[in-house]
Amino acid sequence: MAMSASGRTLEALPDRSPRRYFIRTFGCQMNAHDSERLAGVFEADGMVAASGVDDADVVVLNTCCIRENADNKLYGTLGHLKSLKDRRPGLQIAVGGCLAQKDREVIRRRAPWVDAVWGTHNVDRSAALLAVAAQSGPVTEILEEAQADAAAFPSALPVRREQAWAAWITIQVGCDNKCAFCIVPAVRGREISRPFAAVVAEVDQLAAVGTVEVTLLGQNVNSYGRDLTTALRSDPDWRDRSATTGTAWAADERPRARPLFAELLRAVAGVEGVRRVRYTSPHPKDLRRETVAAMAEEPAICEQLHLPLQSGSDPVLAGMHRGYTAARYLEKLAMARAGIADLGVTTDIIVGFPGETDADFARTLEVVAEARYDGAYTFIYSPRPGTDAARQPERFVAPDVAAERFERLKVVVERSALAAHSARVGRVEEVLVEGRSKRDAAMITGRTRQGKLVHFPSDRPVPAGAFAQVLVTRGAPHFLVGELVEVTAMPRHRTRIPVATV
Ligand code: SAM
Ligand code: SF4
Repeated sequence: MAMSASGRTLEALPDRSPRRYFIRTFGCQMNAHDSERLAGVFEADGMVAASGVDDADVVVLNTCCIRENADNKLYGTLGHLKSLKDRRPGLQIAVGGCLAQKDREVIRRRAPWVDAVWGTHNVDRSAALLAVAAQSGPVTEILEEAQADAAAFPSALPVRREQAWAAWITIQVGCDNKCAFCIVPAVRGREISRPFAAVVAEVDQLAAVGTVEVTLLGQNVNSYGRDLTTALRSDPDWRDRSATTGTAWAADERPRARPLFAELLRAVAGVEGVRRVRYTSPHPKDLRRETVAAMAEEPAICEQLHLPLQSGSDPVLAGMHRGYTAARYLEKLAMARAGIADLGVTTDIIVGFPGETDADFARTLEVVAEARYDGAYTFIYSPRPGTDAARQPERFVAPDVAAERFERLKVVVERSALAAHSARVGRVEEVLVEGRSKRDAAMITGRTRQGKLVHFPSDRPVPAGAFAQVLVTRGAPHFLVGELVEVTAMPRHRTRIPVATV
């Protein structure tokens, strides 16, 4: 008798046509990649993608809880889905991701029409939980910890990638830092690195089907492997050393804190067919010379660094528990710029952290100007329950003050980005094409090695995944405009990366 991955007996189902799923993702790249894993689990269970909510049998909201407005968006969307479910009672609604991890009971209470709730550590159970809900009613399952060795570790799950020419690869889950504003450690758990050989094997597989760009993902990528080497040092028989840590670390018997991230970068950059390697996010306190050297020496590693500053004020940085001062941050940035020619640098900044004064904020503006960023993600501080900073309401910055600082910061960031982008006018850039521009069908869109969006007109099609040389004719704060010089390589990928398990 045929069984699906969720354990359902296929013969027992009244309708044999495949069920359709639709996933709506809130939040960052990490969440977007979790959604690709979720899609992989569903497809391994026999489901197919729907084109939208209206033709879906299952709608999943993959949530984020980094900032508060995500909560509001979730409950708004759930309200809309309830009216849909009233009209189509067979529709299943599920909530996964980090807001589900944090707010499991709240979701149940505020939206009892939700069929299944799962957390960040049990995406592998998603299809099975939907089956349970279909049989016996609403179900919630949240694991408190990631399971390092289990097939449930996110990167061991099947994946259905959105793009075929470029791929995100999880190298680490969780975070061992304790930034005072941040809820990630509470909802994603402790830092667990994926074994070295598993990462390289996934990149090998992707390159074999024509993927040309990979982005390594983790909350704190420079500390990749710290947990693996610690475990090996205390127990040399823990696992096969080279599969866990790569051959360079394994061959060296001296027990020391050699950073594995730079070695991983080099190994991935050495995979035949991979032309671009990116990563996000490194923590400034852990950015090391070895990483800069790898970026400088390996042609495939892109000249792009996302180095979150958060604040330019030393007292605020101390209150955030970031582990560096503004001067130290600028030293690290200078080291990276000195080592890597033509480096594009972006950052994250929070305004209105509890206790931030006008003088603190003025210092942030100074550091931002000095850092000459190519762009920045800017945020107004949002208290997250359970974090250190949220326990100091008496120090909260008034919303109108924070909003005004936010606007002033935006002006300084955009000025710096415009200067950086204008300086590229007249250069010919290598662009990896992403397809037609969503806003203007006459334009093709792609990205430079620094990760900058470039729009250029073309009356003939240039397919996604192709490489082109583009002459930059104009710089704007958030993109470049150019003219096509020539297409240098056509895509190598097959149209769709098949569902794969690594
Ligand atoms: N691990 C990354 C790092 O340390 O750079 C950050 C991950 S977090 C998903 C992305 C960004 O969200 C942070 O760099 C920070 O600027 C912002 N962020 C996190 N918590 C926040 C909060 N409570 N309020 C406002 N912004 C926040
Ligand atoms: Fe959050 Fe800090 Fe960890 Fe980044 S490094 S995920 S900001 S705790």
